[in-house]
Amino acid sequence: MHHHPPADFIPISALQHYLFCPRQCALIHLEQLWTENVYTAEGRQLHEKAHSNKAETRGDCKTVSGLLLCSHTLGLTGQADVVEFHRLGKAWQPYPVEYKRGRPKSMAADRIQLCAQALCLEEMLHVFISEGALFYGKTRRRQVVTLNEALRDETRATILAVQDLLSKGATPPPPPVEVANNICPACSLCDVCLPLAPQTSAASYLQSVMEGI
Ligand code: SF4
Repeated sequence: MHHHPPADFIPISALQHYLFCPRQCALIHLEQLWTENVYTAEGRQLHEKAHSNKAETRGDCKTVSGLLLCSHTLGLTGQADVVEFHRLGKAWQPYPVEYKRGRPKSMAADRIQLCAQALCLEEMLHVFISEGALFYGKTRRRQVVTLNEALRDETRATILAVQDLLSKGATPPPPPVEVANNICPACSLCDVCLPLAPQTSAASYLQSVMEGI
């Protein structure tokens, strides 16, 4: 039997979009806008590799890729790049590993995404997961992440914020120009978002132009 999560479940990927820029999150998940630039293309290649959906066992470690995730209590759905299962006596302890293109950009957002995967796995498998890892393609470094209470709280708060944003159904304006200058050049939606155009507030647009002089 195949269960589809209810339509108002949010995808785990939305958390990262939200943490990068709430407007980006709304453009992608409310307005279904997606443009591809080199960043997303590279990211997808890594993901496709990780999502080729195979299971592999090496000694005391089973590796499963592309596992579908869902949490009914959190209203969350997604897919894990890789979940390792480490042998622990007679049991297998799940250990999520998230693959990221490039080098760490926002470790905080990456940790939250990983924690969200772990929360789903805990609910699905009735286990407690104390640790996972992030893997960065550029540095080929594996970074261990402790799934402590602070990170769990932060993750749950982000989930609530995204649910709030998406349930309201309104796309927020771009951030103030100081923030926009920092994040928009790396955003795959920059061309369609036009963060400095007079689309939402003429006053903030004027201000951004004045500040640019
Ligand atoms: S271009 Fe800037 S304001 Fe627009 S979605 Fe991207 S980061 Fe957000």
